[in-house]
Amino acid sequence: METIERYQPEFVVRHEALPGSCRCPACQKADADWPQANLYLQNQQRDSLQPGCETVARELLLNPEAFILHLSQAEARGEQVLTPWMETLNQQCINLAINPSLSLESSLYAMGILLSKAQQYADQGNEDPALLVSMGEQLVILSEHGVLDEQRGQLPVIKENRLAALKDMGKMRLNLNLPMADKMAMVLKLSELSIMMPNRLSERLQVL
Ligand SMILES: [Zn+2]
Repeated sequence: METIERYQPEFVVRHEALPGSCRCPACQKADADWPQANLYLQNQQRDSLQPGCETVARELLLNPEAFILHLSQAEARGEQVLTPWMETLNQQCINLAINPSLSLESSLYAMGILLSKAQQYADQGNEDPALLVSMGEQLVILSEHGVLDEQRGQLPVIKENRLAALKDMGKMRLNLNLPMADKMAMVLKLSELSIMMPNRLSERLQVL
């Protein structure tokens, strides 16, 4: 039997070791295999979990070792092969995400540029991983010189996305550790967002 490498971050290992299944609101509503979010490739397996589960989110946010990777062997289950192009693209995105000289906004913006350019190259049938490495390096240099921040500052605001995010906040069910009166006020404010008409929501956005 052929085995492949299986990568499991610490938060996945700890989630698997929990006695019984999680009873958070998201897990109660979801299908049986949720919050699993594994990626099965022909030559690699990457395990992950949906951060929408409260137990997972707590581990991700509060455990400094959540992303330490554990390597083991597994039986191949996927059809798709992880190509050198895809593996390099993934690694370059990780590099941009964890580069200490980039702010969170700059990292996301740089990743967006990288993915967009990578798609253009792939569409032209040019999948040389060296292109991605040099693009990643150039993006870091541009960011360190403030060029990316400057460009990002010129992007127009997409109001529809902000309104949709505000409306989604109204659907959140939070497990708040607050006195009852504060908790009620917060819950009312949130549910108000989910039923507000678009023009009122827009006004609220202006205030924020
Ligand atoms: Zn859960």
